[in-house]
Parts: sequence; C-alpha cells; structure tokens
Amino acid sequence: MAIKAQRGTKDILPKDSYKWTYVENLFREVCSLFGYDEIRTPIFESTDLFKRGVGETTDIVQKEMYSFQDNGGRDITLKPEGTAGAVRAFIENKLYANTQPSKLFYITPCFRYERPQAGRMRQFHQFGVEAFGSESASIDAEVMALAMEFFKRVGLEKLELRINSIGCPKCRNEYNNKLRLYLAEKLDKLCGTCQTRYEKNPLRILDCKNEACQSEIGDAPLMIDNICDGCKDHFEKVKVYLDSMGINYVVDPKIVRGLDYYTKTAFEIISQDIGAQSTVCGGGRYDGLVEQLEGPKTPGIGFAIGVERLLLTLENNDIEIPKEEGTDIFVVTIGEKAEIESFKILKALRSNNISCDKDHVGKSVKAQFKYSDKINAKYTIVLGDDEIEKDLATLKNMQTSEQTEIKLSEIADVLKNMI
Ligand code: ATP
Ligand code: MG
Repeated sequence: MAIKAQRGTKDILPKDSYKWTYVENLFREVCSLFGYDEIRTPIFESTDLFKRGVGETTDIVQKEMYSFQDNGGRDITLKPEGTAGAVRAFIENKLYANTQPSKLFYITPCFRYERPQAGRMRQFHQFGVEAFGSESASIDAEVMALAMEFFKRVGLEKLELRINSIGCPKCRNEYNNKLRLYLAEKLDKLCGTCQTRYEKNPLRILDCKNEACQSEIGDAPLMIDNICDGCKDHFEKVKVYLDSMGINYVVDPKIVRGLDYYTKTAFEIISQDIGAQSTVCGGGRYDGLVEQLEGPKTPGIGFAIGVERLLLTLENNDIEIPKEEGTDIFVVTIGEKAEIESFKILKALRSNNISCDKDHVGKSVKAQFKYSDKINAKYTIVLGDDEIEKDLATLKNMQTSEQTEIKLSEIADVLKNMI
C-alpha cells in the first residue's frame, strides 16, 4: 500500500497554491501598511513554553498538542499557535530593549491533534500579529483595524467583528467568585469538561460549545457587566477608536480567553457561512503573558487568522482569487539543432523577465503546438533547423493566429515590447 498523507493534513497543489501565495502577499502588504515587521520562529519549541504560554486549562494543552521526546530526551511540541513562540523570541532576543511598541507579524503552520472536518485540520496555518509594549487602547483598535483591512482587501466585507472585555486579574477574580456562586448548584448538570473548569477557569464555561451547558447558564453573570473602572475605560476607548475608523462591531459578552494573563480586550471575527467553524480570526490582549514567561512586565495584544478557514470563506462567498498569468512564450522546435538553439532563446527571454517554456519529453511538433495552446501561451516561437542559419524564427500570435518572421538575434528586445 502506498503511503498516504496523515489524517488532518493536506497537500496544497498548484491548482490551489496560487491562492495561498495571493493571501500571504496581501497579508504582508497590509501588515507593512500598518508598520508590522515579520518574525519567524521555530516550528518546534519546548513543551513547557506552550503549557505556560497557552495555559494548562486550555483544550490545546489538555488534548491537542503534538508532543514528543526527541533523541536527546527533550520534551518538544510542534507549535499549536503563534503567540507563545513570538513571546519567547521577544524575551530571548530582548526586543523589549528597542523603542516600543514592537509590532510583529507571522505566517506559520500550526499543529493540533483534533478531529478533522471542514475548516479543522491537524496541520493548519495562521496569519497573526503581536504588538508588544503598549497598554493603550489605541493599539487594540489598530490590530482590529489591521485584520478588518486585510479581510476587506481579500473581498470579505460581510464579516462580523465581535468584541468583549474579559477584565484584569483583579476584577476577574471577584467576578470568578460570583460566577462560581452562580454555577455551584448547576454543576452536576454541566459537561465533564466544564466541571473541571469550575475551579481553575470558570469563565471558559461560558463559551462551552455543548448545548446542554449553554441552556443551563443562560442567565449567568457576565464579565463585561463586572469589569472595574480601569477596564471599562479601556473598553470604551477601544470602541471610540473603532467608531472613529468607521469599523462596525458588536459587543459579544460570550467571547472569553479565560486565562489569567489574558486581559481586557478579546475579539473574534466571524463569518456566517462556514457552519460550526465560523471563527476566521481570534485575538486579544495578554498583558500578563510576557511576565508569565519570565520576561519584563510588558503588555501585548495580537490575533490569529486561520488561513484554511479564510480560503473556505472566500470560496463560500464566490470570491475568486486572481490567478497569475501563465507562460508568455512557448518555443516549438523542429530538429536537433533547433532544440539546442532554443536554450539560447529561453535564456535571453527569461533574463528579460519574459516567462517561457519548451518541451522536455520529446513531443512531436504537432503535440508541441497543442501544448502551447493548452498552457495559454500568448505567442509560440517556431524554430526549425534551417531557419537558424538565416537568423530567423516564426512568431505566432496565439490569439489571432497571425504569423510573422522575427530575427533570432533580436528576439528578446522585440518581445519585451510586446508582452
Ligand atoms: P475553535 O474554537 O474553532 O477551535 P480556537 O479558539 O481553538 O478555535 P484559536 O486558538 O483562537 O482558535 O486560533 C485562531 C484561529 O485559527 C481560529 O479562529 C481558526 O480560524 C484557526 N484554527 C484554530 N484551530 C484550527 C484547526 N484545527 N484547523 C484550522 N484552523 C484552525
Ligand atoms: Mg480549538
């Protein structure tokens, strides 16, 4: 039996890879417009980094990580998300010593052991940004604006930005107690996962996907109604800045990031059309994370966009991604001398940024023409042994079928002005 790709992984073939290149380029472009620079961190990190940086009570750490021991006995994990690695790199490379904020973006594969379905893979990809070193609500608004600008440029205008505040350790502690009090008598009706969240992270119970849990907690007290004045002020400012940019949003009190080092702003960008996997972007502020990973106290905020879900959303909205034009010129050769000569032509054309190709599998002349047609070449150059002596080739315009003679020695110069 031939070996197959692993469950939850996918080959990105040429029929699709141009879409990836396109959205990647667009993301880079938008990041650059907003003053974000790229960071590339390793695919694998110490398992501890994710335990501490993502959080022991999260689904990711509890059941989704690709962890293993390497031959040196180190505990290693393939990155399940981009933030922890970026924070580690920020600390290790002392980026905090530069003028702040540090505005970074990344494009990375991620690995999570999940049940594969549409928009849920074991290897998937994220575009993300992390902005370190600013406590100000203006950077919260900026990262959201960046994400929305990106979505607008890919052609998705109907996405919904949902924002929430999950408070700070101080007001959340008080709130957690209030929430536990409310949940106490419902505890035995909640799912097993929620029961384990009760002590450590009750906030997470609010975004449980289990319907039964949801119906139990309909009138639970909400974090947003219990945030302290500082957090409230921050949240109001975020809204003012978003309003100023004309960015629509809805406040969704169910968005949580429920770990101590996640603070204040949490947001999601939702697409209505890809069913359960509708979140194309998730983000939020993490003022305690750098310190949690033993860096100097530094605020931060970021988001991650799921690229597979982005592409699915584009498909479901019938948004076509422009395909780069194919090969400009195909060189048909008749005879052995012509074939040797064709390499000179190809080299000259390519040096002049004209895309071109020739046959490599011994196609008949007829088949070479057919192929030139198939790849949508704009022109076919026909080169025969006896024409070489005369420094001539035939140039066929594939659209009009018009044929002209062209001097071999001038081919690149002439075509440069035609393509
Ligand atoms: P979900 O609730 O859908 O599992 P999440 O909260 O685990 O999402 P994040 O950790 O916030 O997701 O990741 C950011 C984005 O990455 C998500 O909004 C989504 O678009 C994408 N994503 C997350 N997990 C997967 C996956 N297994 N396959 C494909 N994309 C994913
Ligand atoms: Mg998940």
